Amino acid sequence: MEPSVLHNPSQAGWIEVICGSMFSGKTEELIRRMKRARIARQRVEIFKPALDTRYAAAAVVSHDESSIPSTPVSSPSQILLLAGEADVVGIDEGQFFDDSLVDVVTRLAQEGRRVIVAGLDQDYLGRPFEPMPRLMAIAEYVTKLHAICVVCGAPANHSQRLVSSGDRLLLGATESYEPRCRRCFQPERRGDSHQEPVRSTQTPEGSAL
Ligand code: ZN
Repeated sequence: MEPSVLHNPSQAGWIEVICGSMFSGKTEELIRRMKRARIARQRVEIFKPALDTRYAAAAVVSHDESSIPSTPVSSPSQILLLAGEADVVGIDEGQFFDDSLVDVVTRLAQEGRRVIVAGLDQDYLGRPFEPMPRLMAIAEYVTKLHAICVVCGAPANHSQRLVSSGDRLLLGATESYEPRCRRCFQPERRGDSHQEPVRSTQTPEGSAL
């Protein structure tokens, strides 16, 4: 059941985390929850990392282009400054912020706000993607979404990188990644799934962060 249905908003704040692989619908779910709060005339503010410039600069835009206005910020401390009187604070692409996001989110919840953080729980090598794991640990509610594996159709928990890059923060959703299940996920291999395996010129060690 949706956390806001269980929780009484007049009481203390709380933290919700929406996580999963790429193409699992995290941003869509964040937008859905924020729109419902807005319909209830709750004051909502949405933040996203300033570095996520794939789409419109001042809107959280999901891959299906359903969007709501948001404020780009370069650090979690800016969220504290800009949250104002918001009852509900949404944060997209949480994995692009540093660990100070954990303290900021905690403080916002202590102030009595509902805080919803969406983000990748794993990077392209399948490693926990900080600060999302810590946020998942301290959150009242965690929703783990799945995409569908493009190879076999099973629920997908991983983001398969299709280009050769060792940059953990590589952007460019549609061309650079595809969702894969545990069995089909090949973190050391980058290449089109429909082609023969092509070894990356980088060693797995060399491509690590
Ligand atoms: Zn699969």
